[in-house]
This record gives sequence, structure tokens and C-alpha cells, in this order.
Amino acid sequence: MPFTVKEVERYYDPKVMPHIWCAGCGNGIVMMAIMRAFAALIWDPNDIVLVSGIGCSSRLPFYVNVNTLHTTHGRALPFATGIKFAKPDFHTLVVTGDGDATAIGGNHFIHACRRNIDITCILINNQIYGMTSGQVSPATGYGKFASSAPYGSVEHSFDLSGLALAAGASYVARSTVYHVEMLPKLIKGGFEHKGFAFIEILSSCPTYFGKFNKLATAVEMFNWYKEIAIRFDKLKPGEAVPEGKVTIGLLHQEEKPEYIDQYDKMVQKAQSQSN
Ligand code: SF4
Ligand code: MG
Repeated sequence: MPFTVKEVERYYDPKVMPHIWCAGCGNGIVMMAIMRAFAALIWDPNDIVLVSGIGCSSRLPFYVNVNTLHTTHGRALPFATGIKFAKPDFHTLVVTGDGDATAIGGNHFIHACRRNIDITCILINNQIYGMTSGQVSPATGYGKFASSAPYGSVEHSFDLSGLALAAGASYVARSTVYHVEMLPKLIKGGFEHKGFAFIEILSSCPTYFGKFNKLATAVEMFNWYKEIAIRFDKLKPGEAVPEGKVTIGLLHQEEKPEYIDQYDKMVQKAQSQSN
């Protein structure tokens, strides 16, 4: 997806630099992909609302020059739901992390998927709690190491895209920060989709996940993502995903009634019956 620096600069706020992310962190790659998707759609920054919770990934709105909201832990989706109700014409998106969205925010996450509200949720999955120094998250993985699992985690992890799909999200996509050119396309697809769009991005955290799991440099982490990723559209119908691999690309898209539309229709119906 071609772009010029000028097109992307419209969405970027240099005044707040330097950022807080570690060298080799994938969050900046995701931020650039989001801004490229904005630029491709020529969205007015004043019409965009970017909401986040708490964590390394949730610092992203600080650096983007649109309307932003940095909220409480796990609660980005309820805040975004309120915004979408109040301002349905705004392009509302959420940036969150694996811990933020699927541990403390897990209940909000499944219900936002179930309602099919027209919000794009970009989940940066670094498989760990980065900001608090590397504890096990719901996506860390069985046998993986963390500061709170020095002998290996005994917890099985969520398949986050599978969780979104099972909970009712009508657009589900996944990729990694290695697949730089795929990211803005999947995000743009989510923006254009009417309904709840979920995009999971496996992201490098060499500082904690990498250090604990023999992937201590960004290059090692990127090579690992390259190795484990398999394109979903290359699988034959019904073909099992090979052991140790993760599917990437657009995993699911369907049309189904959107929450705000249905709510408005219900209000109109109630008002017409009461007249
Ligand atoms: Fe990124 Fe990990 Fe550093 Fe957080 S701790 S900024 S996720 S590399
Ligand atoms: Mg995390």
C-alpha cells in the first residue's frame, strides 16, 4: 500500500517525542501501519477517536494526532462503546494489549465482539505484561517463561483471534510486526468493515518476552514470527494448521446486524408505539 511521508505526517504528533518504547519494540510498527491506513482512507484526523487502556501498547494514542483517550485498565472498549453511541459518525478505534483486553478486560472484550458494535479493535499481542516487567498474560503460552513463571508457565493460552471469532466478531484478522506490508491492509479492511473488527498483531517485546524465551533481540523475535506464520489463504479448505504455526491474514468476515443501528431502530419502534 503506497504512501508518502506527507500523507502520514498528518496523523503524527512530533511534539510528544521521544516515545517511551524500548529499542526493538513492535509498537511503533503498528502505529505506522495504523497511520498508513488512515492516510489510505484520507480520513480527517478530527473525525477519528483512538481509545486505549493501560500498558505499553496503550501508550500509542499519545503519539497520534487525532482525538485520543487513555483510559483505565481493560476498559478501553466500554469507553469506546460510549463514544460510538454519542458520536456514531466518528471513526472509533481501540488499541489494546493481550493483558489489557483479555485478562482484566476479558469480559468487556467478549461482549463487544458479541454485540457487533462498529469499532475496530487492534490488539497488540506481545504475549506478556510488558509495562510491569514481564508477568504471564493470557497469551503467554504453556511452557513459556516470564518474570512470574521462572520454571515455565503452566497456563494454557487463549487463541485471541479464535476467542474473538467465537464471541461473534464479524471481522477477524491476524498478522505480525514482521509482516509490515500486510498490517495496513488488514487494518484498513477493519476500518471499512461495518461491525466489530478485530485485528490481532503479534508484536516483539525483546525486553521481556524475548529475554525470558531465548529471543533477546528484535531480529531474533522477527525471525521467529517469520518462521511460525502461515498464510491462512494458502490453507486448503479443512486443512489443519501445522503444529507450532500461527495463521495470518484475513481469518473471517461476515455481514451481520450492527449494534448501534439495531439500537436506533429499537428506539424508533418504541417511540412510534408510544405516539
Ligand atoms: Fe515494548 Fe516490551 Fe519495551 Fe513494553 S517492555 S516498550 S512491549 S519492548
Ligand atoms: Mg502484553
